[in-house]
Amino acid sequence: MSKEYAKSFYQSKEWIKCRKGYIKSKYCICERCGRSATIVHHKKFINPRNINNPEITLNWDNLEALCIECHNKIHNRNHQVTTKETIFDENGNLIKSPQ
Ligand SMILES: [Zn+2]
Ligand SMILES: [Zn+2]
Repeated sequence: MSKEYAKSFYQSKEWIKCRKGYIKSKYCICERCGRSATIVHHKKFINPRNINNPEITLNWDNLEALCIECHNKIHNRNHQVTTKETIFDENGNLIKSPQ
């Protein structure tokens, strides 16, 4: 299940800049477990209605720096889909783990 509506947002300069600044402000540390963070998660998940609302998508109050494992836990509440080889990216898509 790909989320086409979010694609252009995740590729936008605004998001890339926002994401970089945020994760830097957290010293690239996962806010839940203290390991190194690689993902900036939206606490209020992005959906087709809020994708164009910077108060949601680019608001640091709505962001959380997370490691892959903590991020997977949030997006994979059924604990069935991801394995060591597959993870969810911030777009909610199942992708191959970078390791
Ligand atoms: Zn973590
Ligand atoms: Zn997320």
